[in-house]
Formats: sequence, structure tokens, C-alpha cells
Amino acid sequence: HEVPLPVPDRRGATEVTLAAAAKIEDVRQRLRAAGAGAAHEARVLRLWAQALPQDSGRRRLEDFMPRSLRSALPDIEAQLEGLARLQSAHPAADGSERLLVALPDGQTVESVLLPREGLCISSQVGCAVGCVFCMTGRDGLVRQLGSAEMVAQVALARRRRTVKKVVFMGMGEPAHNLDNVLEAIELLGTAGGIAHKNLVFSTVGDPRVFERLPQGRVKPALALSLHTTRPQLRERLLPRAPRMTPQELVGAGERYARASGYPIQYQWTLLEGVNDGPDELDGIVQLLAGKYGVLNMIPFNAVDGLDFQRPSWERAAAIARTLHRRGVLTKLRQSAGQDVEGGCGQLRARAARQQAG
Ligand code: SF4
Repeated sequence: HEVPLPVPDRRGATEVTLAAAAKIEDVRQRLRAAGAGAAHEARVLRLWAQALPQDSGRRRLEDFMPRSLRSALPDIEAQLEGLARLQSAHPAADGSERLLVALPDGQTVESVLLPREGLCISSQVGCAVGCVFCMTGRDGLVRQLGSAEMVAQVALARRRRTVKKVVFMGMGEPAHNLDNVLEAIELLGTAGGIAHKNLVFSTVGDPRVFERLPQGRVKPALALSLHTTRPQLRERLLPRAPRMTPQELVGAGERYARASGYPIQYQWTLLEGVNDGPDELDGIVQLLAGKYGVLNMIPFNAVDGLDFQRPSWERAAAIARTLHRRGVLTKLRQSAGQDVEGGCGQLRARAARQQAG
């Protein structure tokens, strides 16, 4: 006869409901309140984060489960599914697929299924950094995502296809929602079964990131948005990024790369006439030659209402070749799914425009 003790949650209710901005701890409390022991909790989290099919281990899971948990499980699973629901899917010719994902409160974010079993997820609704070439940054921060909403994006994507790599490069600045992002990373790197080097924390750079990441049980790879080697231009392009100069950023990145064993991915959105001149190339060589990292150059995608131009692919390729010759490992990339609404944040923007009528 099993009578589970009610576990008060941090809002003082006896039963935790997984609502907007739910954290992984809320999921754990919800399970404990239904009578789950540590082993049940771990298995339910594993089945969720890996989106394992109904028949893989579920029957065994249920056989050894207290009755109270068995009867609560369908409701808990429905709540977990409700943390990230597919609103629309937009496949692209390059094999990627943009997903517009609805959160429990009706807010939406984007996830992108990338070629080669990758997934890009969002960590915030909107973003406070306000990069002048980014659609997401235009309306500021709407709200933080809870860690469970991030894992739920992975579970949703895994119900569509295999995911072996998760990059936090969608909407939002992970450093501005650090606790939640680190919690999600820890779960994805343990119960979620993702190799640690295949979890990528992407940031404009923040001193707190360089303090916290090395302390984590799961140490992700790091992508740093550099975009220019000129401190003043960087302040104009990324107006509300923490004041770290490109030099400080690369210094801190290099220390983390050496400590973690993974090369840093330096991100550079190529804007014609802004950060593609010979001065920048010299600056890049000075900063990055010999460093443990790779420079990803992504030609800007023309976006309605944003006043930048995309350099031609030939010009971008010539820049990448020059840098390579001068000792900087450079990769020229398209942003995924760019035939479907260009860069990140545009699906959400379009959906909002449609809703506004
Ligand atoms: Fe925020 Fe990233 Fe957009 Fe900059 S590029 S505004 S950090 S979402």
C-alpha cells in the first residue's frame, strides 16, 4: 500500500505543475511528489531526454514502479510534452529543418534540425544583446526559458530524427540565462546521452561563462561570437554584450580550449563593407594564428529591415583562403536552412506578423 508523501514545491503547492519556464528540478519534484525514488526519477528523465520509444524499457520501468507513480505518469508525460510543442516545420533544401516551437504560455522559439544529426536550440524568448544584424535582438528579451523547456526542444526534435549534437545557438544569449543553460547541458550530457564535446555553448562572451564552465560536471564545447577584431566596432555591432575586448575574449577562449581539450569555434558574420576589409584580416591573423580554435565565417543573410549587405560567395571564399594561407583555420559556412526565412528569429517574427493580422 503506497501512500507517497506530498513534497512541497518552491511555490508552496503539494503538486508541481510543469508550466512556462519550468526547470529540470520542477520535473524531479513532480516525479518525487508522485512517489518516484531516485532510480525511477533517473529512468523517467532518461526516457524523456532521449525521447526513447514507448517499448524501450518502459514496460520494465512500469513493472517496478509504485502504483501512485504509475497512475501519475501519463499526466506527467503529457506535461513534459507540453513544454515544447511543434507549431510548424519548415524543411530546407540543405537537409536542415526549422521548427517553430510553442512553449506552455504560448510564446514561441525556434529550433533548427541541422544536417548530420545536429540540433540548434533556443535559450530565451527574444534576446537583450541587440546585435544589429540579428532579428531576434530587435525586440529585446521577452522571457527566459527554463532548463526543462530546453531539454524539451531536444526531446521534440528527437521524435523527428536522431540528434547527437546540440548547439545553444538559437534565439537568446545563453550567458544571460546561465543557470538554466548549465542545468540543461548537465542533463543532456548525462541522462540525455549526448557526448560532451557535442554540446556547444555559444556566447558573445561573458566573464561569468569562463568562471562557470570549467567547474561543470559536463563541460561543453564553446563557440564565441567575435564578428570583428576592433573593440569599438564590436560595441556598435553587439551593443549590450559585456565589455570584453576581442583580445580578452580570445585570451579567455584559449584558456578554456586548453583546459577542456576542445577547440573554440570563433563565429564571424561577414557583413559587406563592415568587417571584411584588409584591416580585419590582419587583426584576425594577429589574434587567432596559432590558437586552438577554428574561425567559422558565415556570410550575412539579407533580412527585411536590416541594413547590411551580404558579400558575394566568391569574395567570402577568397577571404577564407587568405586567412587559411596566413595560418588561421577558417571554414566558410552557410547558415542552416537559409532558403527558409534566412537567419534565426525570422520564423517567429513572421508568425507574430501573421498573428497581428
Ligand atoms: Fe542575441 Fe545572438 Fe541575436 Fe546577438 S545574434 S541579438 S546574442 S540572439
